[in-house]
Amino acid sequence: MRGSGQRVDSENINFGNLGDLFGDLFSFGGGARTSRTHQGQSIKIELVVDFREAVFGVVKEIFLERYIKCDQCQGQGNEPGSKLITCNRCRGSGQVVQTQSTFFGTFKTAGVCSECHGQGQIPEKKCRQCQSHGRIRKRAGVKINIPAGINHGQTINVAGQGQAGEKGIPSGDLYVTISIRPDSEFNRQGNDIFYEQEISISQAVLGDKVDIKTIDGEVKLKIPDGTLSGQEFILRGKGVPYLSSSRRGDQIVKIKIKIPKKLTRSQKDLFKKLAENDL
Ligand SMILES: [Zn+2]
Ligand SMILES: [Zn+2]
Repeated sequence: MRGSGQRVDSENINFGNLGDLFGDLFSFGGGARTSRTHQGQSIKIELVVDFREAVFGVVKEIFLERYIKCDQCQGQGNEPGSKLITCNRCRGSGQVVQTQSTFFGTFKTAGVCSECHGQGQIPEKKCRQCQSHGRIRKRAGVKINIPAGINHGQTINVAGQGQAGEKGIPSGDLYVTISIRPDSEFNRQGNDIFYEQEISISQAVLGDKVDIKTIDGEVKLKIPDGTLSGQEFILRGKGVPYLSSSRRGDQIVKIKIKIPKKLTRSQKDLFKKLAENDL
C-alpha cells in the first residue's frame, strides 16, 4: 500500500475528506512503480470558510504535515560539500537489465535502478537530515488565497504545495475544496442571495420604505401599497461577485407579513373597527 506518511494535520481541516490523498500525477506501470515519477503526490483537503469570507474573499493559513524538499541538500540527497558519484549498480545509466527465464524463453527487461532511482548518480555521503531521500516531513503553514465569490464545493489548486518528491523531484499540488458555512440570514444560491424581510400589516397595506440588510450594509427598499406576503423584490447587483468578472448577482427579498399574536386592548379595538369596514 502506498500512502504511509500521508497524514495531514490541521485544526482547520475536515478530516472526513482525507481518504483520497494519492497523487494522480504518478506514473505507474502494471501496479508497480517501474518508471520515474515526475512530480510528488498531490494533497487534497477540505477547507471550511464562513459565508462572508467566501463572498468577499480571504487569505487563510492552514497547517499541513507533509514532505517538503530537504533544505540541507536541496533535495539532492548528498551531505553538503560531498560529491555525487556514478552509481555502481547501473554504471550511471539509471537502468538495469534483468534477464528472466520463462517457459516461453528468455526475456530481457529494463527497469529503473533501485540504487540511484534512475538518476545514474548516488551521493558519496548521504545527507544526514533526510537520509538521502531529498525530502523531510514537516508541519508548516500554507497560505491559501480564497477569491471573492468562491462557491461551495469549488476547488482551488495551489501549485507546488503538495508532497515534495524524492531526490529533488518537484512537489505535487495542493487541492483545496471549499465548504461554506451557511449564514443565518442570507441564503446563497449560486451568485444570488435570498433574504426574508418581515413587514407589518399596515406597511403591506399602505406601503413604506423599509431598511433591508445586504452584504454591503443596509439599503432602503420601497414597498408599494398592497404588497402581498411572499412577494419578491430584487436588489440588483447586491449579490455575490462572480469569480472572473466584476459582475455581481442579485439579492432577492421575499416579503413576509407579520401577523400579530398578542394584541393590546386598543389594538384589538382598531382591528375590530377595520373588520366593521370589511378590512
Ligand atoms: Zn537532505
Ligand atoms: Zn543506479
